[in-house]
Amino acid sequence: MFYKTCAGRGLPGTVAACRERVTVTVDLFSDTQTRPTPGMREAMARAEVGDEQSGSDPTTNALCARVADLLGMEDAVFMPSGTMCNLAAILVQTRAGDEIIVDDQSHIYNTEAAGAAAIGGVSVRPLPTRNGLYTPEQAEAAIRAPQRTAPRSALISVEQTTSFSGGSIWELDTMRAIRDLARDRGLKAHIDGARLLNAVAATGIPARTYAEGFDSAWIDLSKGLGCPVGAVLCGTRDFVTEAWRWKYRLGGAMRQSGVLAAAGLYALDHHLDQLAEDNANARRLREGLEGAPGLAFEPEAGQSNILSFSVAGLGVPAAAFAEACRAQGVRVRAIGEQIRATTHLDVDRAGIARAVAVIRAQADAFARNPGSRRD
Ligand SMILES: *Cc1c(COP(=O)(O)O)cnc(C)c1O
Repeated sequence: MFYKTCAGRGLPGTVAACRERVTVTVDLFSDTQTRPTPGMREAMARAEVGDEQSGSDPTTNALCARVADLLGMEDAVFMPSGTMCNLAAILVQTRAGDEIIVDDQSHIYNTEAAGAAAIGGVSVRPLPTRNGLYTPEQAEAAIRAPQRTAPRSALISVEQTTSFSGGSIWELDTMRAIRDLARDRGLKAHIDGARLLNAVAATGIPARTYAEGFDSAWIDLSKGLGCPVGAVLCGTRDFVTEAWRWKYRLGGAMRQSGVLAAAGLYALDHHLDQLAEDNANARRLREGLEGAPGLAFEPEAGQSNILSFSVAGLGVPAAAFAEACRAQGVRVRAIGEQIRATTHLDVDRAGIARAVAVIRAQADAFARNPGSRRD
């Protein structure tokens, strides 16, 4: 429940709701909103546990082995978050004064509190993109020739799928071209695979095929997989040994983490099909919204479980549009000029139909009432 504070702003169709408490019935803010299911909670309660720090938590070890195998990597380490996976991968594979290459919409660049800079002394070079996907040519142009005066280009990261760019999916060939370029030029290649398994569900390309030849890659457990906590970072045995040092230093080493790892194993057993359903729901959402007045979609939007669209055509700020939807019980996220809707296991087909109806109604209302657009 939340209390609307937008009363008096004159948002069409929402004023009455603004004065009441409104329950969010369809939460498309993020797939981080998933709650552990009863089955997952049971698996957590039953988990066999030990001490993770001494390598004797059997459930954590099983999860790491499982994800390393899934990604075709030698070894893996369980982390409290995806953010720590990215940071540890950067810290292991760079040194202070180095530069890393990412896309300008990336999680690393935008929402990790500049961890690479603050902790690693590493500068981040964001490549301009429309949809989070840069080209091998852009990457090549960004890699610096060795020079005393220049930072050393040390690592390049690909975010599969893109988070803030409508869930776009990287083509395998493009990823491989970037990986090969990195290898030729002496850089490490990293996959921020928070939603890699959504790409797998969408394309049928195995995770290990995507990850092949990359130096580091990870998946998040707390997004579409529905776990309360955790991510798993993979690489060579030597890489993981060093990543463990950073896990300690950053305060990420745990004890009876099997309770959390059990949720991850449960998700890999039971929730992979759900990712395909989430992708389908994002597609349904797009199909339902196509043609609504003032909404504009990038071609890639809705390729996986994230749908971004612009409301600029309505002349209304994205935040105001999101607020109007929320007043009708549908929660979406305003990111810059875009609205982002993310599907997940707690939103079913009926929820998608409800979201279509509410978002369309808001678009219609704003389009009909240009005078209401000023916020
Ligand atoms: C969520 C996310 C992260 C960070 O993961 P947390 O588990 O929330 O720390 C990193 N990269 C991408 C692309 C993400 O979507």
